[in-house]
Amino acid sequence: MTTRSYERVERTVATINDVLNVINVLTWDARVHMPAAGAGARAEQLATLTTIAKGHLTNPALAADVARAQTELGADATLVQRRTLAAVREAVSHHERIPDDLTERLARAKGTAQQAWVEARRDDDFGTFAPHLARMLDLKREVASYTAPDRPVYDALLHEYEPGMTASALRTLFERLKATLGPLVAAIAETGAPRAEVLRQQFDVSRQRAFALGIAERFGYDLRRGRLDEAPHPFEISFSTNDVRITTRYDPAFLGQSVFATWHEAGHGIYEQYADPAYARSALSSDLIGLYAVSGTSYGTHESQSRLWENLVGRSRAFWDVHYGELVYAFPGQLQDVDVETFYRAINTVTPSPIRVEADEVTYHLHVILRFELEVALLDGSLGVDDLPGAWDEAMQATLGLRPRNDREGVLQDIHWSAGLVGAFPTYTIGTVMASQFFAAALRNAPGIQSDLARGEYSSLLGWLREHVYRHARLHGADELLRNATGSDLDPSAFLEYVTNKYGALYDV
Ligand code: ZN
Repeated sequence: MTTRSYERVERTVATINDVLNVINVLTWDARVHMPAAGAGARAEQLATLTTIAKGHLTNPALAADVARAQTELGADATLVQRRTLAAVREAVSHHERIPDDLTERLARAKGTAQQAWVEARRDDDFGTFAPHLARMLDLKREVASYTAPDRPVYDALLHEYEPGMTASALRTLFERLKATLGPLVAAIAETGAPRAEVLRQQFDVSRQRAFALGIAERFGYDLRRGRLDEAPHPFEISFSTNDVRITTRYDPAFLGQSVFATWHEAGHGIYEQYADPAYARSALSSDLIGLYAVSGTSYGTHESQSRLWENLVGRSRAFWDVHYGELVYAFPGQLQDVDVETFYRAINTVTPSPIRVEADEVTYHLHVILRFELEVALLDGSLGVDDLPGAWDEAMQATLGLRPRNDREGVLQDIHWSAGLVGAFPTYTIGTVMASQFFAAALRNAPGIQSDLARGEYSSLLGWLREHVYRHARLHGADELLRNATGSDLDPSAFLEYVTNKYGALYDV
């Protein structure tokens, strides 16, 4: 059943969702096509639309309708209705607490901090970015003081990306990861030189594109409802389940770049494309706290799907046993002397490097843990912004045994903090852990998947993920979705077993 007030809630949320999807269109355009000179006006346009969305959300009529609908529906409320009302209620209370002038100050600070970051990174000059970072941290602390005054600042921020997760739970998770990954990286380092030379040749960019996209389609990324463009920082964004865009970047001298970035973003895209269309324009396809139109239920869950297709499938031996011949054929004269074993080793090279986005499956998480520890220290005041570059370099030395040559490849490498994404890095590792859990559950529950993968047949894996993950959109929170699909809470065992087996065999350690 439904009631008038519930229908009014649905209509308001549909309006908000439309605005948020328009924001996505403008964001996609800004990152793919817009001339740089358009940035100032675009930032104003996006801020205006965000204010409009927030205005609909904090209109007292909406809160009144939510309360009325709750009473009217009572125990008859369906799961969708309950989840919708709870999501709207939580978002209303979140946004009501934040004073309008703080929302505006934060929006403006993001614009100027990102510009300052671009220039500081270009000039390798942390000093010009430092005041912007300090200001951003102050603003984020201020937001947290309104939205969750009774919780630690880090938990309040983390909640916006990964509801329910806390810094203390992360610490436990990260300790377990470090205990295995640290010694594994050290053991691999002793085995000698990296083996990625075969990937470093001139590879025709249009052929890179055709190969990568062809595979993404076979994974399940539907090009009738999507498209692939080029962007300096690859990303996925959707305007509805029927229009889910992905981007990649090409390095003509390195094959590893575009291929894995395309599959990564296709994994994000597949998640969005297979959300239940019944949830279109609803609270189940809108992050009403982050004011972002998305069907995936948390940052970590989203990342679990990009990593599953990119790494667990795309970097597996079974995958390349099937598809390596196609790759050799796509680049005549370049790979025919390289056997599949050599190629498989090349794409799974483990080398400590200063740059997170270029890191392999093993060292990657040490980059995330380092950022988490520094973020916590910055937010609780035990680390000052001026001391950050030194702390960064020392942490790099301690965890990965190397020192960045400069701040460009050190503390200035990521856009996140300048964009206001403080507390978001851990979701990359959470996603990786979840990916292994989903993948293991799929193989356990549907034994045919393994042999299908060995034949290059992806529909059974896609089908399992559609059934247990994608179609639900935001109906369940990440914890509940994971438990329903795998029978467990977040647990790094499957991931640790995967990396230990795979890289133990690859490096004989
Ligand atoms: Zn991703």
